[in-house]
Amino acid sequence: MIYNTLGKTGLEVSRLGFGTMRLPTKTNNADINKEEASKMLTYAIENGVNIIDTAYPYHSEGLEGSGESERFLGEYFKENSYRDEIILQTKSPVWAVEKKSDFDMFLDEQLEKLQTDYIDIYMLHSLNVADWEKVRDLNVFDFLDDALSSGKVKHVGFSSHIEVDYVIEIIDEYPKWEVAMTQLNYLDEYYQSGVMGTNYLKQVNMGSMIMEPLRGGRLVNNIPDEVKELWDMAEVKRTPVEWALQYLWNRDDVDCVFSGMTTMDQVKDNIRIASTEDVISDYDKEIIREVARTYRTFLGNDCTRCGYCMPCPHGVDIINCLTEYNIAHMMRDPKASAMQYFSLIDDDSRADSCVQCEECIPFCTQMLNIPEELQKVYEYFGSEFDHF
Ligand code: SF4
Ligand code: SF4
Repeated sequence: MIYNTLGKTGLEVSRLGFGTMRLPTKTNNADINKEEASKMLTYAIENGVNIIDTAYPYHSEGLEGSGESERFLGEYFKENSYRDEIILQTKSPVWAVEKKSDFDMFLDEQLEKLQTDYIDIYMLHSLNVADWEKVRDLNVFDFLDDALSSGKVKHVGFSSHIEVDYVIEIIDEYPKWEVAMTQLNYLDEYYQSGVMGTNYLKQVNMGSMIMEPLRGGRLVNNIPDEVKELWDMAEVKRTPVEWALQYLWNRDDVDCVFSGMTTMDQVKDNIRIASTEDVISDYDKEIIREVARTYRTFLGNDCTRCGYCMPCPHGVDIINCLTEYNIAHMMRDPKASAMQYFSLIDDDSRADSCVQCEECIPFCTQMLNIPEELQKVYEYFGSEFDHF
């Protein structure tokens, strides 16, 4: 494993972090397969991963309530001696905070779920512009000051999917921030805060953590032939996961990349890659840029399947509608995607069930106008398979 210093925290972190939002499950999202997930965590820790990320809602049924991921980690660390070796990170559900005392209520609940006296890194989760203004008005900085001085929290930061101007504004308002987590991959250099955000984090010596390194799996699944041909032209042959992760680890403004791992094979593969020094040549960097340009010509929309917009109050399966539309564009095989669209998504969950109420829009981490995107999906697939 290769380690980096996490900005001004001074912590030495494995450059691969274990994200626990996509642990293996049994019957539903809240039903974690604890036996398998424990094996994966133990393998990761014993092979050098020393930072684990969770959040209040991860592995909840409704995606926003109190999730099972924190509870599982609490039970996991109770059964072994790893807790003090691990940098444990979780996040405050800022969207659910209505008054200042709610910050403390959530922090205390999270400490209880995690069965620990302290959280190494505590983040404000997925700050958007509205939540940022709300928490500032609720004196979030007083709460963070108290959480730090009480010892319940060792370091504080935030995660966000917003534009770089806002990220800089947030950073500049509170000198005690030590880390931030933003989205970056070779398709997203100038999307959300992108490389300008990671550059700024480096400039102010904050720890730079990355989410969505594989863009919701899009960079490693269903690779178009044009992209495969480009990868074949590279000086060094790499798998799609190697390209995506090594691109990030070749940047000096990236300290830690979180991967939400679901299988033991993913854990082993990611650790193998994270333990390999791989300097990408200028020629191969140009190949990456060409691959990004090629992908951008295919995409139907920017959905990363994060699930924050679900459930739709009118039953629309937003994620799979947008995904099938994207796959249809990437693979340029509308008939195959239409078969999936009409067979996998129920009649009353397809795009034509959207009533354009717009309730989902504020939840989209990718700032998509979801009803507009669903209208495109409807116009593309229609309402009957015989359309194809
Ligand atoms: S706009 Fe459409 S998808 Fe969004 S919440 Fe309303 S009905 Fe559901
Ligand atoms: S539409 Fe937005 S919030 Fe919903 S899954 Fe896609 S990216 Fe996430």
